Amino acid sequence: MKEVVHEMFSEEQIQERIMEIAKQINKKYGNTPLHVIGVLKGSVFFFTELVKRLTMPVTIDFIAAGSYGDGMVSTGSLSIEKDLEGEIDDLHCLIVEDIVDTGNTLSKICKMLLARNPASVEFCALLDKPARRETEVQVEYIGFIIPDEFVVGYGLDYAQKYRNLPYVGRLEFIEE
Ligand code: 5GP
Repeated sequence: MKEVVHEMFSEEQIQERIMEIAKQINKKYGNTPLHVIGVLKGSVFFFTELVKRLTMPVTIDFIAAGSYGDGMVSTGSLSIEKDLEGEIDDLHCLIVEDIVDTGNTLSKICKMLLARNPASVEFCALLDKPARRETEVQVEYIGFIIPDEFVVGYGLDYAQKYRNLPYVGRLEFIEE
């Protein structure tokens, strides 16, 4: 099978959207310190571009949750593969995710973090695939809403490949 990536959002479109989201977050939090938590690995490109544009005092941490293995379909069993390094008591937390699909990952992370007594928790995702939602999650900041397609690039992978593409694209398999 040949793999072909069809561009959906260019690097410029993504940058522009990230600027808009950062403005929204800056407006909402003002000078209130924000603890920004990236969900590894897919969110890293989005995370760094977003965090650079935040104007309040910012601290960062990372968490890793796995459900996809190396394929295109979620294995259904979610696990926290890497926990946060620091405590989050009394911190205003913003969780940054690459894409919300079934919603199961964010829902699990949300429950786990709320049990640690943060001052608040909000979610931000570059992409949202609402057609496949299984668990309702409130995502306050969304980059782009997309149809039920498997996408790669800008941090998102297929079998660990394509993360380095500067754009987001739909992955197609073609019989050779
Ligand atoms: P959820 O728990 O919402 O179903 O899935 C969230 C995770 O699944 C994302 O963080 C991402 O790693 C993966 N995922 C969901 N949809 C896609 C997709 O279209 N492309 C890629 N590369 N990963 C996806």
